[in-house]
Amino acid sequence: MAATDASRAVTIADKPLQALNDDEWEQLCDGCGRCCMHKFEDEDTGEALYTVIACRLFDDASCRCRDYEHRQQAVPDCLSIRALSPAQMRWLPASCAYRLRAEGKPLPAWHPLVSGDPETVHAAGMSMRGRSIAVDTVPEACWPDYIMDTDGD
Ligand code: SF4
Ligand code: SF4
Repeated sequence: MAATDASRAVTIADKPLQALNDDEWEQLCDGCGRCCMHKFEDEDTGEALYTVIACRLFDDASCRCRDYEHRQQAVPDCLSIRALSPAQMRWLPASCAYRLRAEGKPLPAWHPLVSGDPETVHAAGMSMRGRSIAVDTVPEACWPDYIMDTDGD
């Protein structure tokens, strides 16, 4: 990574969420795909319990949305993260860059903005690439059997 790119990345990683422009906001996403998994709410804590069962638009091979531009027309309950209040950020996975920054925490070493390499989120085992399960292969009654660990691993 060039020095100017590295300087820019550090700036984005350090900025408060509300100070990010649209391009910077998109760059803050680590590409993990965790928020694209189906989830439940823990009735006691209000925390979201994420499964490894993917949204029907999630592409497991690329770890990306198949129709990001029109996602909210296709999947009405797709989270609009920028519209979440600070309290609602708890609905995001614990490792999510937006949640970390909303909580005033630094980005981890495997975040592409820190490492300079978009592959590090996958190499660190933090993404859903190659490990999600298609939603139409699991009966809804069995979804609780597919909850990820609470730390998102
Ligand atoms: S969990 Fe957060 S960092 Fe990961 S893909 Fe979703 S929005 Fe991006
Ligand atoms: S619509 Fe796309 S961005 Fe939204 S949860 Fe589904 S795969 Fe993820």
